[in-house]
Amino acid sequence: MKSKSKKPDTLLAHAGRDPARNFGVVNPPVYHASTIIHQTVAELEKAQKNRYGIDQVVYGRYGTPTTFALEQAVAALEGGARAIAFGSGAAACFASILAFVKTGDHVLVTDSVYGPVRGFCNGFLARFGVETTFYNPTIGEGITALIRPNTRVIYLESPGSLTFEMQDTPAIAKLAKTRGIKTVFDNTWAAPLYCKPLALGCDVEVIAGTKYIVGHSDAMMGLVVADEENFLKVREAATLMGNHAAPDDCYLALRGLRTAGVRLRQHRATALELASWLAKRREVGRVLYPALPGDPGHHLWKRDFTGASGLFGFVLKPDTSKRAVDAMLDGMELFGMGFSWGGFESLLVPVYPQHLRTAVVWQEGLTLRVHAGLEDLDDLIADLDAGFKRLNAAA
Ligand SMILES: *Cc1c(COP(=O)(O)O)cnc(C)c1O
Repeated sequence: MKSKSKKPDTLLAHAGRDPARNFGVVNPPVYHASTIIHQTVAELEKAQKNRYGIDQVVYGRYGTPTTFALEQAVAALEGGARAIAFGSGAAACFASILAFVKTGDHVLVTDSVYGPVRGFCNGFLARFGVETTFYNPTIGEGITALIRPNTRVIYLESPGSLTFEMQDTPAIAKLAKTRGIKTVFDNTWAAPLYCKPLALGCDVEVIAGTKYIVGHSDAMMGLVVADEENFLKVREAATLMGNHAAPDDCYLALRGLRTAGVRLRQHRATALELASWLAKRREVGRVLYPALPGDPGHHLWKRDFTGASGLFGFVLKPDTSKRAVDAMLDGMELFGMGFSWGGFESLLVPVYPQHLRTAVVWQEGLTLRVHAGLEDLDDLIADLDAGFKRLNAAA
């Protein structure tokens, strides 16, 4: 398919599949493989030269036609030349940094980064002599002051995990480009529809496909999208670390992708309603959702994004006790308490950004994170309303 000219919803339905090559079957089949039989010595030698298994089924770990179908679909959708599937979103994040650093290098990582990436930088990169500086996510062009001669990667995530600050991505990407620094952008919140980091100037896009692409709270999946040159670097890192995305999970991710457009529109509509409802509650100090007018990052969101997903946060009034919040959470009927998100079901969990911030202290009240699922809006509001009644009764 000539993907460049097609709109996102069309790509979601068609990219990465070719029924004519597959007995007319609509979906690409699941190929389970370790050994690949090569028919001639010439074929075998060609496979052996293809060290990272690119565009050829060389060995199971490097991917099968199922993997390639998912990778092609995501690359087409995100406007990148190439995509790589990983066994988890975290594996995709880590490989995207490792691909560009060596001992003695320095990386800049947003203070609002997904927690395990902070753990990877402090607990793993540091052991190999790569230093990390965490920066204020709202720093914008001010990041110049933190750049050192040995800075190799700037790692962005916008909006940020747990606290939802928006970053001035084009400004940072432009500054980085003039200095030869790679920019990696974690696009999980908005993917696969509402933000295109490569078009904003970033070099590498990371997606936890576990969230909205898989979309059903079952399989785990990571994806990296990049142009040919950066793809080769990340592909090399992924291969050398023994990365593998399971074919069944690639199949599930591809299946999730087909309906991601309609699902995301519903997640987004419900989240906007819930966020607006919460903003009016007297128990709530502040809602953290860049799609809401009045959010400090709203103008950046409006400029760089074409929509919002179903994940946001809210901060309770400063005098709210933990006991009262526990009473609210313990009795929720529809909102589940659990991590990860992006599935069809609503979630409500307490989060603790104060333990995950070093550049900017987080000193707001108790913070909750909401994932707006696909349930009926009135039922969700009734569940939250009953929750606030328990909170007030326990206060
Ligand atoms: C969940 C998440 C990840 C990690 O994805 P897993 O598939 O759970 O490993 C990375 N980045 C962000 C922003 C996430 O929300």
